[in-house]
Amino acid sequence: MSENKDQKFVYDFTEGNRDLKDLLGGKGANLAEMTNLGLPVPPGFTITTEACKVYLGSGEEPAALRDEVSAHLDALEQRMGKKLGQADNPLLVSVRSGAKFSMPGMMDTVLNIGLSDASVEGLAKQAGDERFAWDSYRRLIQMFGKTVLGVDGELFEDALEAAKHAKKVTVDTDLDAADLKKLVKAFKKTVKTETGRDFPQEPREQMDLAVRAVFDSWNGDRAKLYRRQERIPGDLGTAVNICSMVFGNLGPDSGTGVAFTRDPASGHQGVYGDYLQNAQGEDVVAGIRNTVALAELERIDKKSYDQLMQIMETLETHYKDLCDIEFTIERGQLWMLQTRVGKRTAGAAFRIATQLVDQGLIDEAEALQRVTGAQLAQLMFPRFDENAKVEKIGRGIAASPGAAVGKAVFDSYTAVKWSRSGEKVILIRRETNPDDLDGMIAAEGILTSRGGKTSHAAVVARGMGKTCVCGAEELEVDTKRRRMTVNGTVVEEGDVVSIDGSTGKVYLGEVPVVPSPVVEYFEGRMHAGADDADELVAAVHRIMAYADRVRRLRVRANADNAEDALRARRFGAQGIGLCRTEHMFLGERREMVEKLILADTDEEREEALKALLPLQKKDFVELFEAMDGLPVTVRLLDPPLHEFLPDITELSVRVALAEARKDHNENDLRLLQAVHRLHEQNPMLGLRGVRLGLVIPGLFTMQVRAIAEAAAERKNAKGDPRAEIMIPLVGTVQELEIVREEAEEVIAEVEARTGVELKLALGTMIELPRAALTAGQIAEAAEFFSFGTNDLTQTVWGFSRDDVEASFFTAYLEKGIFGVSPFETIDKDGVGSLVRNAVEAGRATRPDLKLGVCGEHGGDPESVHFFHEVGLDYVSCSPFRIPVARLEAGRAAAQPSGSDSR
Ligand code: ADP
Ligand code: MG
Ligand code: MG
Repeated sequence: MSENKDQKFVYDFTEGNRDLKDLLGGKGANLAEMTNLGLPVPPGFTITTEACKVYLGSGEEPAALRDEVSAHLDALEQRMGKKLGQADNPLLVSVRSGAKFSMPGMMDTVLNIGLSDASVEGLAKQAGDERFAWDSYRRLIQMFGKTVLGVDGELFEDALEAAKHAKKVTVDTDLDAADLKKLVKAFKKTVKTETGRDFPQEPREQMDLAVRAVFDSWNGDRAKLYRRQERIPGDLGTAVNICSMVFGNLGPDSGTGVAFTRDPASGHQGVYGDYLQNAQGEDVVAGIRNTVALAELERIDKKSYDQLMQIMETLETHYKDLCDIEFTIERGQLWMLQTRVGKRTAGAAFRIATQLVDQGLIDEAEALQRVTGAQLAQLMFPRFDENAKVEKIGRGIAASPGAAVGKAVFDSYTAVKWSRSGEKVILIRRETNPDDLDGMIAAEGILTSRGGKTSHAAVVARGMGKTCVCGAEELEVDTKRRRMTVNGTVVEEGDVVSIDGSTGKVYLGEVPVVPSPVVEYFEGRMHAGADDADELVAAVHRIMAYADRVRRLRVRANADNAEDALRARRFGAQGIGLCRTEHMFLGERREMVEKLILADTDEEREEALKALLPLQKKDFVELFEAMDGLPVTVRLLDPPLHEFLPDITELSVRVALAEARKDHNENDLRLLQAVHRLHEQNPMLGLRGVRLGLVIPGLFTMQVRAIAEAAAERKNAKGDPRAEIMIPLVGTVQELEIVREEAEEVIAEVEARTGVELKLALGTMIELPRAALTAGQIAEAAEFFSFGTNDLTQTVWGFSRDDVEASFFTAYLEKGIFGVSPFETIDKDGVGSLVRNAVEAGRATRPDLKLGVCGEHGGDPESVHFFHEVGLDYVSCSPFRIPVARLEAGRAAAQPSGSDSR
């Protein structure tokens, strides 16, 4: 990152706005936005992410930064009428990290910067409160010592506990000025012994060190882990906010709180939040004292409460979305310290989007951007069976929905260890902190005994889409002995528990699960308009209708039989994009396939094919009937033939044993020879797909005949079959031409015999790099292309999926070689660019070429956006993912170009 001469690295809160998140980070951009809305924000300024990038690249702050900060600090001091850390009348500030996306693992905010042995006296005089000044100073040394100087935080915690213990009090507010003075002394000593230096007394040095520590925290392990999880690029950098202090710890007429403008679990409007009197900063979410519900503030301080309600309304109308906020009241004066568009559960996302449409705040296109396919997928998870016999042992706050079952574990380490060995675990903690992140990722669900809807566990779990019950106060969690006690019941490590993040209920043992109402709705078993339909189903129904109205991509299903096809249709499929025919060769039919493979003479072969034909035909008749009026793409046989034969080792043993008994089995012997003959080093790249059709006479024509006859039968029954015949694994147009000629002959013959005009389309999969590269030629013989992105990914990367996923993908993901497996989300730069070129070349040859995709990527949200963008006609995915694909196709079409879909 090079420095640009007239680059500006510092912005006053009055200079920024919410659109500058890249530059000012989320927190800084929103502080600026609130400032410009005229809300009471303590003045301050933001150091940009660009400054951070320079630091991360060169190891040093940009040369111009120091003077720029000085200039902004001067202006702030003038405005506040006091100087940073000045002995008699000090200005104090907080130093707060803030990247574009909020991220755990970044440096914790340091409050009260500017306090020193000298200015603590000044602060006491200024506030007329000695206790307050010393409390603020001890907080500074504690926070600064831990986060900036890297001193073990427990050393401070322990000293604080000891001080309370000595005085026989339980809460920090019961310590007086003299106690706190002693504590400051102890804290300073700890800093000296742990770091070998004195706690810095120079205010500007405190500030500069804190700023640098924020920059450094960008590359902390936890931040890196989170970025990988959330696919946040590693080079964005963080901004730093310097904000003049306001004090919630000035007595009972002061306090600090957090709030949501709506319930982040249900979306309902109301008063949701927590408040804590005489407290500073994180006290309210740290669970050190009992908070009160925000509604109580009306009684404690009506004026501030009314003002807060009004500000929340202003924010909702302005941001047109649910906001969460942090505020502090200093002696009856309300200050806004943060706002952002708040995290919410998947269900709330759908409900809020439709509520905002009804309120006229957003339109339908915008509503689509407020939900994601991932959220919809989450809503399709099963829930606990309400009628099951259960042993309820407790109840907490429903913090993040879902039904999670697993073995109880009481620390992050065990959670990770057990989950690696395939166990499902529930992480149970008194409360969580950023150190628990690994365990939270590993666990099925999280259960805590303390903290509310805004506690660390709740916020992080919602962000991860993980089930969470928090603040279950009746649980006594004993981490040391690895157990918890609930109303007399003891739950040991390893005991199975079930937690319901939608109700907050906690059960002992495994509770059975039932399908979600959203799935019941898609299945047509619940009607969105019915009186008893729940709010969520109604919201999903409306959003799906918006998506269907605007989307350009059609959505088809990968389905091989009538049952799957019917479900797919209920889920909104507009056809079948991939019917694999290989299952039609398994089970009882395997024997016929063996006969086909073992055939020595043409007669034997024809006999085997003749036996298969009526069975195949029947399959197709059923399928075409289920999908009447909609296209059905049937792929001719694809996998290598040995997959239909017995396992080589098993068969060898069988033959050897028979030999030993002198008991000849002619068939087994021939089979074994065939297995040897067909054995391949690299079956994925061997005799399969179109190659089979070309070397086994009659195989493909039998399949084509079955399709043609089935279609004719359906037409005669007044049906509307729309079959498309798809040839797999084509690498060159010649292969396709040969198969095509043979197929056309068969079709013409069936038409002549039945007197029915069939209009069967013939096309190919594009799943080899050569096919993609010569798509222009291939389109001469193909009426449609279907991109087989699974095989295309394998062949473009040279990956054998089954091998690489198991052996080294974890290492690749950890090293950040790719943020997500290319088998999950299409690799746009590599595989995607082949797709894009093939689309263009194919259409150049044949303008009405029909284009689709039938790899698993067809149901992946990010990939769906890509397929929309390159102009495919449809995506095809497994039946269960169809709603997700419909929604994402709608979101892609409604998305204003260039906008960030995150
Ligand atoms: P986080 O991103 O972890 O929420 P914040 O920067 O918002 O960190 O700060 C942590 C806590 O300190 C919050 O409760 C916030 O409201 C409070 N805080 C931050 N700056 C100030 C300030 N200038 N005056 C008073 N409280 C502050
Ligand atoms: Mg905050
Ligand atoms: Mg394939």
